[in-house]
Amino acid sequence: MNFSECYNLNKQFTHIVAVIGAGVSGSEAAKQLAARGITTVLFEKNKLPYGKIEEGLPKWHIKLRNQEERKIDEKIKNPLITFVPATAMGKDFSLREIFEWGFSAVILAIGAGQDRRLKIPGIDFFLGKGFYYQNELVSWFNHKHEPEFQGPFCEIVDGAVVIGGGLASLDVAKILMLETVSRALWEKDIKVDLFTLEREGFPIVFKKYGLTLSGLGLKGCQLFYRRRLIDMPLAPMPEHADNLRMEKVHQLRVRILDNFRQKYMFRVEECLDPVKILSDSRKLQGLVFRERELQGKKWQDTTRTKEIYTPLIISSIGSVPGLFDDLPADGALLAIENQATGKLRGLDNVFAIGNAVTGRGNIKESLVHSRDTVHRILDEQGLGRENSYEDWINREEVKSARAVQRITREIINKKPLSISDFQHTLTRVNKLQKKAGYHGDYDRWIKMYLPIRLETILEQEKSRPG
Ligand SMILES: Cc1cc2nc3c(=O)[nH]c(=O)nc-3n(C[C@H](O)[C@H](O)[C@H](O)COP(=O)(O)OP(=O)(O)OC[C@H]3O[C@@H](n4cnc5c(N)ncnc54)[C@H](O)[C@@H]3O)c2cc1C
Repeated sequence: MNFSECYNLNKQFTHIVAVIGAGVSGSEAAKQLAARGITTVLFEKNKLPYGKIEEGLPKWHIKLRNQEERKIDEKIKNPLITFVPATAMGKDFSLREIFEWGFSAVILAIGAGQDRRLKIPGIDFFLGKGFYYQNELVSWFNHKHEPEFQGPFCEIVDGAVVIGGGLASLDVAKILMLETVSRALWEKDIKVDLFTLEREGFPIVFKKYGLTLSGLGLKGCQLFYRRRLIDMPLAPMPEHADNLRMEKVHQLRVRILDNFRQKYMFRVEECLDPVKILSDSRKLQGLVFRERELQGKKWQDTTRTKEIYTPLIISSIGSVPGLFDDLPADGALLAIENQATGKLRGLDNVFAIGNAVTGRGNIKESLVHSRDTVHRILDEQGLGRENSYEDWINREEVKSARAVQRITREIINKKPLSISDFQHTLTRVNKLQKKAGYHGDYDRWIKMYLPIRLETILEQEKSRPG
Protein backbone atom coordinates (compact mmCIF):
# COMPACT_ATOMS: atom_id res chain seq x y z
CA MET A 1 0.00 0.00 0.00
CA ASN A 2 1.36 3.47 -0.82
CA PHE A 3 1.53 6.23 1.77
CA SER A 4 -1.56 8.18 0.69
CA GLU A 5 -3.74 5.04 0.76
CA CYS A 6 -2.32 4.38 4.18
CA TYR A 7 -2.89 7.98 5.30
CA ASN A 8 -6.49 7.83 4.15
CA LEU A 9 -7.14 4.59 5.97
CA ASN A 10 -5.49 6.04 9.00
CA LYS A 11 -7.07 9.51 9.05
CA GLN A 12 -8.63 9.11 12.45
CA PHE A 13 -5.35 8.93 14.36
CA THR A 14 -2.35 9.88 12.29
CA HIS A 15 0.23 8.03 14.29
CA ILE A 16 2.71 5.39 13.26
CA VAL A 17 3.80 2.87 15.84
CA ALA A 18 6.80 0.56 15.52
CA VAL A 19 6.42 -2.94 16.89
CA ILE A 20 9.70 -4.82 17.21
CA GLY A 21 9.39 -8.60 16.95
CA ALA A 22 6.77 -10.55 15.00
CA GLY A 23 6.07 -13.47 17.33
CA VAL A 24 2.80 -14.13 19.17
CA SER A 25 2.95 -10.84 21.13
CA GLY A 26 4.20 -8.54 18.37
CA SER A 27 1.69 -9.75 15.79
CA GLU A 28 -1.15 -9.45 18.31
CA ALA A 29 -0.01 -5.92 19.27
CA ALA A 30 0.10 -4.93 15.59
CA LYS A 31 -3.38 -6.37 15.06
CA GLN A 32 -4.76 -4.45 18.03
CA LEU A 33 -3.19 -1.17 16.91
CA ALA A 34 -4.47 -1.64 13.37
CA ALA A 35 -7.95 -2.37 14.73
CA ARG A 36 -7.83 1.08 16.33
CA GLY A 37 -6.88 2.68 13.00
CA ILE A 38 -3.20 3.12 13.84
CA THR A 39 -0.64 2.44 11.14
CA THR A 40 1.85 -0.07 12.46
CA VAL A 41 5.26 -1.10 11.21
CA LEU A 42 6.23 -4.58 12.35
CA PHE A 43 9.99 -5.14 12.33
CA GLU A 44 11.31 -8.69 12.55
CA LYS A 45 14.97 -9.68 12.66
CA ASN A 46 14.41 -13.06 10.99
CA LYS A 47 13.12 -13.66 7.49
CA LEU A 48 10.09 -15.39 8.96
CA PRO A 49 7.82 -14.01 11.68
CA TYR A 50 6.53 -16.50 14.34
CA GLY A 51 9.36 -16.25 16.94
CA LYS A 52 9.26 -19.12 19.46
CA ILE A 53 6.52 -20.91 17.54
CA GLU A 54 9.03 -21.68 14.80
CA GLU A 55 12.22 -21.90 16.86
CA GLY A 56 11.20 -23.07 20.33
CA LEU A 57 8.12 -25.23 19.97
CA PRO A 58 9.47 -28.75 19.33
CA LYS A 59 8.61 -29.90 15.84
CA TRP A 60 6.34 -32.75 16.86
CA HIS A 61 3.67 -30.12 17.74
CA ILE A 62 2.70 -30.02 14.06
CA LYS A 63 -0.93 -29.01 14.51
CA LEU A 64 -0.31 -26.33 17.11
CA ARG A 65 2.61 -24.83 15.17
CA ASN A 66 0.64 -24.65 11.91
CA GLN A 67 -2.44 -23.26 13.63
CA GLU A 68 -0.49 -20.52 15.45
CA GLU A 69 1.56 -19.60 12.40
CA ARG A 70 -1.56 -19.21 10.26
CA LYS A 71 -3.06 -17.01 12.99
CA ILE A 72 0.04 -14.79 12.88
CA ASP A 73 -0.15 -14.64 9.06
CA GLU A 74 -3.75 -13.44 9.20
CA LYS A 75 -2.86 -10.72 11.68
CA ILE A 76 0.14 -9.44 9.71
CA LYS A 77 -1.81 -9.28 6.44
CA ASN A 78 -3.93 -6.40 7.79
CA PRO A 79 -3.58 -3.44 5.37
CA LEU A 80 -2.62 -1.08 8.20
CA ILE A 81 0.37 -3.26 9.11
CA THR A 82 3.62 -2.88 7.21
CA PHE A 83 5.87 -5.88 7.71
CA VAL A 84 9.65 -5.40 7.59
CA PRO A 85 11.36 -8.80 7.80
CA ALA A 86 15.08 -9.55 8.14
CA THR A 87 15.62 -6.20 9.85
CA ALA A 88 16.90 -6.11 13.41
CA MET A 89 16.79 -3.35 15.95
CA GLY A 90 20.33 -2.88 17.21
CA LYS A 91 21.78 -3.89 13.86
CA ASP A 92 19.81 -2.29 11.03
CA PHE A 93 18.43 0.61 13.06
CA SER A 94 18.58 1.99 16.58
CA LEU A 95 15.86 3.04 18.97
CA ARG A 96 16.97 6.67 18.56
CA GLU A 97 16.56 6.46 14.76
CA ILE A 98 13.03 5.11 15.12
CA PHE A 99 11.95 8.30 16.83
CA GLU A 100 13.95 10.48 14.42
CA TRP A 101 11.97 8.89 11.59
CA GLY A 102 8.73 10.11 13.20
CA PHE A 103 7.30 7.06 14.97
CA SER A 104 4.96 7.99 17.80
CA ALA A 105 5.79 5.00 19.97
CA VAL A 106 7.77 1.76 20.04
CA ILE A 107 6.45 -1.53 21.36
CA LEU A 108 9.16 -4.06 22.09
CA ALA A 109 7.92 -7.61 21.56
CA ILE A 110 11.37 -9.11 21.21
CA GLY A 111 10.65 -12.21 23.29
CA ALA A 112 13.19 -13.95 25.46
CA GLY A 113 15.60 -15.38 22.96
CA GLN A 114 18.75 -15.55 25.05
CA ASP A 115 19.47 -18.38 27.43
CA ARG A 116 19.95 -17.47 31.03
CA ARG A 117 23.68 -18.08 31.64
CA LEU A 118 24.60 -21.09 33.74
CA LYS A 119 26.80 -19.67 36.45
CA ILE A 120 29.40 -22.39 36.84
CA PRO A 121 32.99 -21.18 36.49
CA GLY A 122 34.65 -22.32 33.27
CA ILE A 123 31.60 -23.99 31.68
CA ASP A 124 31.25 -21.57 28.76
CA PHE A 125 34.70 -22.65 27.53
CA PHE A 126 33.04 -25.94 26.54
CA LEU A 127 30.19 -24.34 24.55
CA GLY A 128 29.62 -26.48 21.47
CA LYS A 129 32.13 -29.01 22.84
CA GLY A 130 29.96 -31.09 25.13
CA PHE A 131 27.97 -28.16 26.52
CA TYR A 132 24.91 -26.52 24.92
CA TYR A 133 22.17 -24.15 25.90
CA GLN A 134 18.52 -25.05 25.35
CA ASN A 135 17.60 -22.47 22.68
CA GLU A 136 20.37 -23.61 20.35
CA LEU A 137 19.53 -27.26 20.93
CA VAL A 138 15.79 -26.88 20.22
CA SER A 139 16.41 -24.72 17.14
CA TRP A 140 18.87 -27.34 15.82
CA PHE A 141 16.37 -30.13 16.52
CA ASN A 142 13.56 -28.25 14.77
CA HIS A 143 15.53 -27.52 11.61
CA LYS A 144 18.26 -30.15 11.20
CA HIS A 145 16.26 -32.16 8.63
CA GLU A 146 16.15 -29.20 6.21
CA PRO A 147 18.44 -29.71 3.20
CA GLU A 148 19.73 -26.10 3.46
CA PHE A 149 20.31 -26.29 7.21
CA GLN A 150 23.68 -24.69 8.02
CA GLY A 151 23.84 -25.23 11.77
CA PRO A 152 24.93 -24.62 14.43
CA PHE A 153 25.05 -28.37 14.95
CA CYS A 154 24.60 -30.17 18.24
CA GLU A 155 26.29 -33.49 18.82
CA ILE A 156 23.97 -35.67 20.86
CA VAL A 157 25.26 -38.67 22.78
CA ASP A 158 23.78 -41.02 25.35
CA GLY A 159 24.07 -40.36 29.09
CA ALA A 160 23.59 -36.58 28.93
CA VAL A 161 22.81 -34.34 31.89
CA VAL A 162 20.10 -31.67 31.64
CA ILE A 163 20.00 -28.83 34.15
CA GLY A 164 16.52 -27.38 34.49
CA GLY A 165 13.10 -28.14 35.89
CA GLY A 166 10.48 -26.32 33.81
CA LEU A 167 8.36 -27.73 30.98
CA ALA A 168 10.97 -26.70 28.43
CA SER A 169 13.62 -28.77 30.22
CA LEU A 170 11.35 -31.84 29.99
CA ASP A 171 11.19 -31.23 26.26
CA VAL A 172 14.97 -30.99 26.15
CA ALA A 173 15.30 -34.37 27.93
CA LYS A 174 12.67 -35.77 25.56
CA ILE A 175 14.58 -34.50 22.50
CA LEU A 176 17.79 -36.13 23.76
CA MET A 177 15.99 -39.43 24.32
CA LEU A 178 14.21 -39.33 20.95
CA GLU A 179 17.51 -38.64 19.21
CA THR A 180 19.52 -41.38 20.89
CA VAL A 181 16.75 -44.01 20.73
CA SER A 182 15.99 -43.23 17.04
CA ARG A 183 19.65 -43.64 16.21
CA ALA A 184 19.92 -46.93 18.13
CA LEU A 185 16.79 -48.29 16.41
CA TRP A 186 18.12 -47.19 13.06
CA GLU A 187 21.37 -49.07 13.71
CA LYS A 188 19.26 -52.19 14.26
CA ASP A 189 17.54 -51.48 10.96
CA ILE A 190 14.27 -50.67 12.77
CA LYS A 191 12.75 -47.67 11.01
CA VAL A 192 10.36 -45.83 13.35
CA ASP A 193 9.86 -42.19 12.44
CA LEU A 194 10.15 -39.40 15.01
CA PHE A 195 6.43 -38.65 15.13
CA THR A 196 5.48 -42.30 15.80
CA LEU A 197 8.15 -42.61 18.48
CA GLU A 198 6.99 -39.37 20.12
CA ARG A 199 3.29 -40.24 19.95
CA GLU A 200 3.50 -43.86 21.09
CA GLY A 201 6.37 -43.52 23.56
CA PHE A 202 9.23 -45.98 24.05
CA PRO A 203 7.46 -48.75 26.05
CA ILE A 204 4.97 -49.42 23.22
CA VAL A 205 7.59 -49.31 20.48
CA PHE A 206 10.07 -51.41 22.46
CA LYS A 207 7.39 -54.04 23.20
CA LYS A 208 6.61 -54.33 19.51
CA TYR A 209 10.25 -55.14 18.70
CA GLY A 210 11.14 -56.99 21.93
CA LEU A 211 13.61 -54.32 23.01
CA THR A 212 14.69 -52.52 26.16
CA LEU A 213 16.64 -49.32 26.68
CA SER A 214 19.66 -51.20 28.02
CA GLY A 215 19.23 -53.80 25.26
CA LEU A 216 19.77 -50.93 22.82
CA GLY A 217 22.99 -50.15 24.70
CA LEU A 218 21.60 -46.92 26.19
CA LYS A 219 21.56 -45.49 29.72
CA GLY A 220 19.32 -42.52 28.93
CA CYS A 221 19.73 -38.95 30.10
CA GLN A 222 19.21 -37.43 33.53
CA LEU A 223 17.49 -34.19 34.48
CA PHE A 224 18.69 -32.36 37.60
CA TYR A 225 16.43 -29.94 39.44
CA ARG A 226 17.49 -27.75 42.35
CA ARG A 227 14.26 -28.10 44.33
CA ARG A 228 11.85 -30.98 45.04
CA LEU A 229 10.05 -32.67 42.15
CA ILE A 230 6.74 -31.36 43.49
CA ASP A 231 8.11 -27.81 43.17
CA MET A 232 8.75 -28.14 39.42
CA PRO A 233 6.76 -25.41 37.67
CA LEU A 234 4.96 -27.93 35.45
CA ALA A 235 1.54 -26.72 36.54
CA PRO A 236 0.95 -23.26 37.95
CA MET A 237 0.45 -22.77 41.67
CA PRO A 238 -2.35 -20.23 42.26
CA GLU A 239 -1.54 -17.33 44.49
CA HIS A 240 -2.73 -17.86 48.09
CA ALA A 241 -3.50 -21.55 47.40
CA ASP A 242 -4.75 -23.38 50.50
CA ASN A 243 -3.21 -26.71 51.56
CA LEU A 244 -5.70 -28.79 49.61
CA ARG A 245 -5.15 -26.84 46.39
CA MET A 246 -1.39 -26.98 46.92
CA GLU A 247 -1.52 -30.73 47.38
CA LYS A 248 -3.55 -31.08 44.16
CA VAL A 249 -1.07 -28.99 42.18
CA HIS A 250 1.82 -31.03 43.59
CA GLN A 251 0.07 -34.25 42.57
CA LEU A 252 -0.59 -32.92 39.10
CA ARG A 253 3.06 -31.91 38.68
CA VAL A 254 4.23 -35.37 39.64
CA ARG A 255 1.73 -36.94 37.24
CA ILE A 256 2.94 -34.73 34.38
CA LEU A 257 6.53 -35.67 35.22
CA ASP A 258 5.74 -39.38 35.51
CA ASN A 259 4.00 -39.32 32.17
CA PHE A 260 7.20 -37.97 30.60
CA ARG A 261 9.48 -40.35 32.48
CA GLN A 262 7.45 -43.42 31.59
CA LYS A 263 7.07 -42.54 27.92
CA TYR A 264 10.60 -41.33 27.24
CA MET A 265 12.56 -43.15 29.94
CA PHE A 266 14.78 -40.42 31.33
CA ARG A 267 15.65 -40.08 34.99
CA VAL A 268 15.11 -37.08 37.23
CA GLU A 269 17.08 -36.08 40.36
CA GLU A 270 15.90 -33.48 42.83
CA CYS A 271 17.46 -31.00 45.29
CA LEU A 272 20.79 -30.81 43.46
CA ASP A 273 22.48 -27.64 42.26
CA PRO A 274 25.45 -27.78 39.84
CA VAL A 275 28.43 -25.91 41.28
CA LYS A 276 31.60 -27.04 39.52
CA ILE A 277 32.77 -28.64 36.29
CA LEU A 278 34.78 -31.82 36.15
CA SER A 279 37.26 -31.66 33.28
CA ASP A 280 40.74 -32.31 32.15
CA SER A 281 42.26 -29.35 30.32
CA ARG A 282 40.45 -30.02 27.05
CA LYS A 283 37.47 -32.24 27.77
CA LEU A 284 34.36 -31.70 29.82
CA GLN A 285 33.86 -34.79 31.97
CA GLY A 286 30.96 -33.94 34.23
CA LEU A 287 29.63 -31.82 37.04
CA VAL A 288 29.79 -31.59 40.79
CA PHE A 289 26.34 -31.02 42.34
CA ARG A 290 25.65 -29.66 45.79
CA GLU A 291 22.75 -31.19 47.70
CA ARG A 292 20.16 -28.73 48.97
CA GLU A 293 17.45 -29.06 51.56
CA LEU A 294 14.37 -27.18 52.59
CA GLN A 295 14.57 -25.83 56.13
CA GLY A 296 11.21 -24.36 57.01
CA LYS A 297 10.42 -22.23 53.98
CA LYS A 298 14.05 -21.60 52.98
CA TRP A 299 16.32 -23.59 50.73
CA GLN A 300 19.78 -24.20 52.19
CA ASP A 301 22.93 -25.58 50.62
CA THR A 302 24.38 -28.57 52.47
CA THR A 303 28.04 -29.60 52.52
CA ARG A 304 27.20 -32.84 50.71
CA THR A 305 28.19 -33.06 47.05
CA LYS A 306 27.74 -35.58 44.26
CA GLU A 307 29.99 -36.09 41.22
CA ILE A 308 28.20 -36.96 37.98
CA TYR A 309 30.29 -38.01 35.00
CA THR A 310 28.75 -37.27 31.59
CA PRO A 311 29.87 -36.53 28.03
CA LEU A 312 27.10 -33.96 27.39
CA ILE A 313 25.51 -31.16 29.43
CA ILE A 314 22.50 -29.07 28.42
CA SER A 315 21.45 -26.02 30.36
CA SER A 316 17.71 -25.38 30.29
CA ILE A 317 17.30 -22.87 33.10
CA GLY A 318 15.19 -20.29 31.27
CA SER A 319 15.51 -17.47 28.77
CA VAL A 320 15.78 -13.71 29.01
CA PRO A 321 15.40 -10.92 26.42
CA GLY A 322 18.49 -9.67 24.62
CA LEU A 323 19.47 -6.32 26.13
CA PHE A 324 20.53 -3.22 24.21
CA ASP A 325 22.74 -0.33 25.34
CA ASP A 326 19.93 2.19 24.90
CA LEU A 327 17.35 0.16 26.87
CA PRO A 328 17.14 0.29 30.69
CA ALA A 329 17.68 -3.05 32.40
CA ASP A 330 17.11 -4.62 35.81
CA GLY A 331 19.67 -7.42 35.81
CA ALA A 332 18.92 -9.63 32.82
CA LEU A 333 15.43 -8.19 32.30
CA LEU A 334 14.11 -4.97 30.78
CA ALA A 335 13.36 -2.35 33.44
CA ILE A 336 9.61 -1.76 33.49
CA GLU A 337 8.26 1.40 35.13
CA ASN A 338 4.54 0.82 34.61
CA GLN A 339 3.37 -2.81 34.81
CA ALA A 340 -0.01 -2.02 33.20
CA THR A 341 1.43 -0.64 29.96
CA GLY A 342 4.91 -2.14 30.09
CA LYS A 343 6.42 1.36 29.80
CA LEU A 344 10.19 1.23 30.11
CA ARG A 345 11.89 3.13 32.91
CA GLY A 346 12.98 6.61 31.90
CA LEU A 347 11.86 6.31 28.27
CA ASP A 348 8.74 8.01 27.00
CA ASN A 349 6.68 6.09 24.45
CA VAL A 350 8.70 2.86 24.67
CA PHE A 351 6.78 -0.16 25.93
CA ALA A 352 7.57 -3.86 26.28
CA ILE A 353 5.13 -6.76 26.03
CA GLY A 354 5.16 -10.58 25.94
CA ASN A 355 8.12 -12.70 26.96
CA ALA A 356 10.33 -9.60 26.62
CA VAL A 357 8.81 -8.49 29.93
CA THR A 358 8.91 -11.62 32.08
CA GLY A 359 11.57 -13.63 30.32
CA ARG A 360 10.81 -17.30 29.89
CA GLY A 361 13.13 -17.98 32.80
CA ASN A 362 10.66 -16.29 35.08
CA ILE A 363 8.24 -19.12 34.62
CA LYS A 364 7.03 -18.92 38.19
CA GLU A 365 6.19 -15.26 37.92
CA SER A 366 4.28 -15.69 34.68
CA LEU A 367 2.42 -18.73 35.95
CA VAL A 368 1.37 -17.20 39.25
CA HIS A 369 -1.10 -15.02 37.42
CA SER A 370 -2.69 -17.76 35.38
CA ARG A 371 -5.48 -18.74 37.73
CA ASP A 372 -7.82 -19.68 34.92
CA THR A 373 -5.29 -22.04 33.48
CA VAL A 374 -4.61 -23.88 36.69
CA HIS A 375 -8.29 -24.35 37.39
CA ARG A 376 -8.84 -25.68 33.93
CA ILE A 377 -5.92 -28.09 34.11
CA LEU A 378 -6.97 -29.31 37.53
CA ASP A 379 -10.58 -29.69 36.56
CA GLU A 380 -9.87 -31.51 33.36
CA GLN A 381 -6.99 -33.44 34.94
CA GLY A 382 -5.39 -32.88 31.57
CA LEU A 383 -1.82 -33.94 30.94
CA GLY A 384 -1.66 -33.00 27.28
CA ARG A 385 1.40 -30.90 26.45
CA GLU A 386 -0.39 -29.34 23.51
CA ASN A 387 -2.68 -27.77 26.10
CA SER A 388 0.12 -26.24 28.15
CA TYR A 389 1.71 -24.55 25.16
CA GLU A 390 -1.61 -23.50 23.74
CA ASP A 391 -2.58 -22.01 27.11
CA TRP A 392 0.67 -20.09 27.28
CA ILE A 393 0.31 -18.77 23.77
CA ASN A 394 -3.32 -17.77 24.29
CA ARG A 395 -2.48 -16.06 27.54
CA GLU A 396 0.34 -14.15 25.86
CA GLU A 397 -2.11 -12.99 23.17
CA VAL A 398 -4.66 -11.79 25.72
CA LYS A 399 -1.99 -10.03 27.78
CA SER A 400 -0.60 -8.28 24.69
CA ALA A 401 -4.06 -7.19 23.59
CA ARG A 402 -4.78 -5.71 27.03
CA ALA A 403 -1.44 -3.91 27.19
CA VAL A 404 -2.00 -2.41 23.74
CA GLN A 405 -5.42 -1.14 24.80
CA ARG A 406 -3.71 0.90 27.54
CA ILE A 407 -0.78 1.92 25.34
CA THR A 408 -3.19 3.19 22.66
CA ARG A 409 -4.81 5.54 25.14
CA GLU A 410 -1.42 7.17 25.68
CA ILE A 411 -0.58 7.32 21.97
CA ILE A 412 -3.80 8.92 20.76
CA ASN A 413 -3.36 11.81 23.17
CA LYS A 414 -0.14 12.75 21.40
CA LYS A 415 0.09 15.31 18.61
CA PRO A 416 -0.74 13.60 15.30
CA LEU A 417 1.75 13.45 12.45
CA SER A 418 1.42 15.77 9.46
CA ILE A 419 0.97 14.14 6.07
CA SER A 420 4.56 15.00 5.10
CA ASP A 421 5.97 13.45 8.30
CA PHE A 422 3.76 10.46 7.69
CA GLN A 423 5.17 10.15 4.17
CA HIS A 424 8.73 10.63 5.39
CA THR A 425 8.37 7.80 7.94
CA LEU A 426 6.89 5.36 5.47
CA THR A 427 9.57 6.22 2.90
CA ARG A 428 12.24 5.21 5.44
CA VAL A 429 10.36 2.02 6.13
CA ASN A 430 10.06 1.19 2.43
CA LYS A 431 13.84 1.61 2.08
CA LEU A 432 14.39 -0.92 4.84
CA GLN A 433 11.94 -3.33 3.21
CA LYS A 434 13.80 -3.06 -0.09
CA LYS A 435 17.14 -3.58 1.63
CA ALA A 436 15.73 -6.79 3.10
CA GLY A 437 14.55 -7.87 -0.37
CA TYR A 438 10.90 -7.73 0.67
CA HIS A 439 8.50 -6.13 -1.78
CA GLY A 440 5.26 -6.34 0.17
CA ASP A 441 3.91 -9.67 -1.09
CA TYR A 442 3.57 -11.38 2.28
CA ASP A 443 2.24 -14.74 1.07
CA ARG A 444 4.98 -15.03 -1.53
CA TRP A 445 7.65 -14.18 1.04
CA ILE A 446 6.39 -16.80 3.49
CA LYS A 447 6.19 -19.42 0.75
CA MET A 448 9.75 -18.63 -0.25
CA TYR A 449 11.21 -18.92 3.26
CA LEU A 450 9.01 -21.40 5.11
CA PRO A 451 11.29 -24.43 5.47
CA ILE A 452 10.31 -27.90 4.34
CA ARG A 453 8.78 -29.81 7.24
CA LEU A 454 9.94 -33.22 8.39
CA GLU A 455 6.41 -34.60 7.98
CA THR A 456 6.44 -33.50 4.32
CA ILE A 457 9.77 -35.23 3.72
CA LEU A 458 8.42 -38.42 5.35
CA GLU A 459 5.26 -38.25 3.21
CA GLN A 460 7.34 -37.78 0.07
CA GLU A 461 9.52 -40.76 1.01
CA LYS A 462 6.43 -42.91 1.60
CA SER A 463 4.89 -42.08 -1.75
CA ARG A 464 8.12 -42.65 -3.68
CA PRO A 465 7.88 -45.88 -5.73
CA GLY A 466 10.15 -48.72 -4.60
C1 LIG B 1 9.83 -24.33 24.83
C2 LIG B 1 8.81 -23.26 25.13
C3 LIG B 1 8.73 -22.73 26.41
C4 LIG B 1 7.79 -21.72 26.68
N1 LIG B 1 7.80 -21.18 27.91
C5 LIG B 1 6.93 -20.16 28.18
C6 LIG B 1 6.96 -19.51 29.45
O1 LIG B 1 7.72 -19.87 30.33
N2 LIG B 1 6.10 -18.49 29.68
C7 LIG B 1 5.25 -18.08 28.72
O2 LIG B 1 4.52 -17.12 28.93
N3 LIG B 1 5.19 -18.68 27.53
C8 LIG B 1 6.01 -19.71 27.22
N4 LIG B 1 5.95 -20.31 26.01
C9 LIG B 1 4.83 -20.01 25.11
C10 LIG B 1 5.09 -19.09 23.97
O3 LIG B 1 6.26 -19.39 23.26
C11 LIG B 1 5.27 -17.70 24.38
O4 LIG B 1 4.36 -17.29 25.33
C12 LIG B 1 5.11 -16.80 23.15
O5 LIG B 1 5.53 -17.43 21.97
C13 LIG B 1 5.95 -15.59 23.36
O6 LIG B 1 5.77 -14.74 22.30
P1 LIG B 1 6.61 -13.41 22.16
O7 LIG B 1 6.08 -12.76 20.94
O8 LIG B 1 6.62 -12.65 23.44
O9 LIG B 1 8.12 -13.89 21.95
P2 LIG B 1 8.78 -14.66 20.74
O10 LIG B 1 7.93 -15.73 20.23
O11 LIG B 1 10.15 -15.05 21.21
O12 LIG B 1 8.91 -13.55 19.59
C14 LIG B 1 9.87 -12.52 19.63
C15 LIG B 1 10.20 -12.09 18.20
O13 LIG B 1 11.03 -10.94 18.25
C16 LIG B 1 12.06 -11.06 17.28
N5 LIG B 1 13.18 -10.20 17.69
C17 LIG B 1 13.98 -10.38 18.77
N6 LIG B 1 14.90 -9.40 18.83
C18 LIG B 1 14.68 -8.58 17.77
C19 LIG B 1 15.30 -7.39 17.29
N7 LIG B 1 16.37 -6.86 17.91
N8 LIG B 1 14.81 -6.80 16.17
C20 LIG B 1 13.73 -7.33 15.53
N9 LIG B 1 13.11 -8.46 15.94
C21 LIG B 1 13.57 -9.08 17.05
C22 LIG B 1 12.39 -12.55 17.31
O14 LIG B 1 13.07 -12.97 16.15
C23 LIG B 1 10.99 -13.16 17.44
O15 LIG B 1 10.40 -13.38 16.19
C24 LIG B 1 6.89 -21.29 25.68
C25 LIG B 1 6.99 -21.84 24.42
C26 LIG B 1 7.92 -22.81 24.14
C27 LIG B 1 7.99 -23.36 22.76
